[in-house]
Formats: sequence, C-alpha cells, structure tokens
Amino acid sequence: METIPNIYKIDIFSVFLKRMVSKYLLRSEKQWKKILDDDIFRILRKKETEPPFTGKFLNNKEKGVYVCAGCKNPLFSSDTKFESGSGWPSFWDVLSKGSIDLKTDNSLGMKRVEVLCGKCGGHLGHVFDDGPKPTRKRYCINSASLDFKK
Ligand code: FE
Repeated sequence: METIPNIYKIDIFSVFLKRMVSKYLLRSEKQWKKILDDDIFRILRKKETEPPFTGKFLNNKEKGVYVCAGCKNPLFSSDTKFESGSGWPSFWDVLSKGSIDLKTDNSLGMKRVEVLCGKCGGHLGHVFDDGPKPTRKRYCINSASLDFKK
C-alpha cells in the first residue's frame, strides 16, 4: 500500500486545525458566558431548549435574515419560515449549505438530529423530516439562539 506523501498530510492537518480553531476555539465557554445573556448561554452553549410558545421570533413575519445569536453567522431566511404549530420558529431550509452543522443526538431517550451553527458550533435546535415542500425538512430552532437582521 502506498503511503500518503507528507505534503498532503500537512494539508489535511491544516484543514482540520483551521476547522477546530474556527469552530471550537472561537471563544472559550468562559468568554461565551461573559458576553451572552444567561438564558441565551444556557441554550446556545449548554444545549437547553426554550419553553415552546415563548420565543421572541416565533411570530416574527418581517422580511430578513436570521443569524446566530453568538457569532452572527447568517443561518435562515425569512422566506423559508413557516407556521409549524410546534411553538418554535420553524424553517424548511437553511440559507446556505455551510451555514449549519448536523449532529446525531441520542439524548432524552430520542433519536434526533441536532442543528449547530456552522461557524461557532452553538446549539440552534433540531431538524425533522416532517416539514413542507420542497425540502420536507423542519428546522425547529430556539429563538434564543437567533438574532434578526432586516
Ligand atoms: Fe454561531
């Protein structure tokens, strides 16, 4: 079996390192705690969920872009927001493919897919396969994890 030339090894390592740095060392948890409100910190950094029908963006009908409450990464367009009846802001698509990361979540005895900010790794919510056309996806997102830009 051929060995991987060293130059590629360095390249793979640098890509990996860049990703680690941008995602997990953007800020320490201590720094996040300092700059985020307590209720936002608990959701975005500690993966808690806001109570349904309480979030500030649930009934927001304005045109604009929803960004990450932590790092301001653009995440969802108001054009893909829909009424799901779940009690959380719901979207049927993301703004662009790299906006988010998806991760298997087996917590609370359920098998779900967690949605994370693609830039800072902050917890946004979960995605389900019972959304409307054309994607059939339902991105169920905490208002506390979002900011809104008109
Ligand atoms: Fe973020």
